[in-house]
Amino acid sequence: MEEAAHSARIRVTRRAATEFAFSGALYDEHAPGLYRCVDCGNALFDSRTKFDSGTGWPSFWEAIATANVCEKKDFRAGVLRTEVKCTLCDAHLGHLFTDGPQPTGLRYCLNSVALRFIPRPANASEKP
Ligand SMILES: [Zn+2]
Repeated sequence: MEEAAHSARIRVTRRAATEFAFSGALYDEHAPGLYRCVDCGNALFDSRTKFDSGTGWPSFWEAIATANVCEKKDFRAGVLRTEVKCTLCDAHLGHLFTDGPQPTGLRYCLNSVALRFIPRPANASEKP
């Protein structure tokens, strides 16, 4: 793996840094597919729940399964936020806000470098 890309990933997933808005590879990704944890491959989000939040970070209104992500109170920025982490490997993914679109009203605001996008083959079944 390229060294700069690897250290950017470590800063986010293991030290809870946030990548610069509009700097990631996935905020503007609209192809159908699956978003997995970059560190352990855990299936986290589906493109069908991805939306354009205008924030410059990949945003989703629902996780694939609530058991696959965990939420933790985060006071790091001096305000209370809800941190989103991978349940399997504890990677920091981003934060959860409650100003998302219906049907959930949630906005998972994630870092591109914490995710690995797996495009869905065009002829694949619509079932995940
Ligand atoms: Zn993981």
